[in-house]
Amino acid sequence: MGLAHQALSQEDVRSLKGDRGIGHVRYSTVGTSSAENAQPVVMSTNFGDIALAHNGEIVNAGRLREDLKKKGWAFATTSDSEIIIRLLANDIADTGDPARSIRNVMSLMNGSYSITLMVDDRVFAVRDPYGIRPLCIGRTKEGFAAASESVVFDTLGGEFMRDVEPGELVEILPGEVKSINTGLARGRAHCMFEWVYIARADSCLDGRLVYDVRRKIGRRLAIEQPVDVDVVVPVPDSGRSHSMGYAEQSGIPYSEGLMKNRYVERTFIMPEQTDRSTSVMLKLNPLKSVIKDKRIALVDDSIVRGTTMRKIVQLVRNAGAKEVHVRIGSPPIRTPCYFGIDMKTRDQFAATGRTVDQIAEMLTADSLGYISVEGLVEAIGHSANDLCLGCLTGEYPLPVEGEKIRFQKKLDSFT
Ligand code: SF4
Repeated sequence: MGLAHQALSQEDVRSLKGDRGIGHVRYSTVGTSSAENAQPVVMSTNFGDIALAHNGEIVNAGRLREDLKKKGWAFATTSDSEIIIRLLANDIADTGDPARSIRNVMSLMNGSYSITLMVDDRVFAVRDPYGIRPLCIGRTKEGFAAASESVVFDTLGGEFMRDVEPGELVEILPGEVKSINTGLARGRAHCMFEWVYIARADSCLDGRLVYDVRRKIGRRLAIEQPVDVDVVVPVPDSGRSHSMGYAEQSGIPYSEGLMKNRYVERTFIMPEQTDRSTSVMLKLNPLKSVIKDKRIALVDDSIVRGTTMRKIVQLVRNAGAKEVHVRIGSPPIRTPCYFGIDMKTRDQFAATGRTVDQIAEMLTADSLGYISVEGLVEAIGHSANDLCLGCLTGEYPLPVEGEKIRFQKKLDSFT
């Protein structure tokens, strides 16, 4: 449990034998944050061991689990990944062909998934039919690999080759990456939040460098939400590229005004609210010389609960700011994510049931401005139909019980 460098020592890594493997850094969505839900999940079968690491969320996991329980299956964890591996082990027992079985299991699952798999000594990677979560392949001097973000290959001294296509299965072999067409691709619905917040700025996702997208968002934000201030201050780290774009477009000076303690992890992923609020104070220290007696445009990537931003606004005010104007690089997040980001219930969002002025009041900001959905889509550079915008619009790319799907308007016209 813990950050990778805390949980794994150099000795642990050195003790790993063999020439292939898979790994996973857990971001808690379905299932509790406990050691038994850590991945990869591993299962022994007559065909050898199967190991699986999963990024995303299976929307129909509950139903699949109930169906399997009725057939007498028992589950050791609360994770949806265990359902996938059990289905897969069962199918391989029938087909004897891992690639065919992966396709068969994909056809049962509804949701988002980028998965790496080892079946005995074979390594596979697969992306869901809409490509909601990212997955790419690259090469290093040791061989080929698949990862969620291209920055991994830079770090390993290798090179990024390409994104895995929606619905594509690849097998990583010693001398090549073999692509297997599952015939299950359904279009594109890339998660907009990867570009806005989740991915590292130096990663390239689905043909767009995250850093470039964030700067474009910032420029567009400056056009849509101008404000007369003395200085543009980013909320580090994720608001930095957005702020640069905002400053470039507006011509207002940019300055770092909040110093970050780099040893404290992201507040958004901390499960307990108290941890999150305390962490803001530990994490950020205001630079009074930049802030005192100034009118500040405070730029960040997004507001989810608003707890963190409220603390930051107060921090900047306490450092002597004359005015604090908040500018945000994503439209208001109002509806839950069912595809792998931990934003589950409507009442946890600052924007649910509040107008923009009411949110500004909650944040104790002098003003608040969000980028529009159109502006965000234009900055990302994919068409709106190729993106998931579910948590902004409440219209999801694939059916979720009790929610609208993206093409709801077309469906309604048939009734
Ligand atoms: S609902 Fe929002 S966070 Fe979830 S996949 Fe879609 S865009 Fe991303």
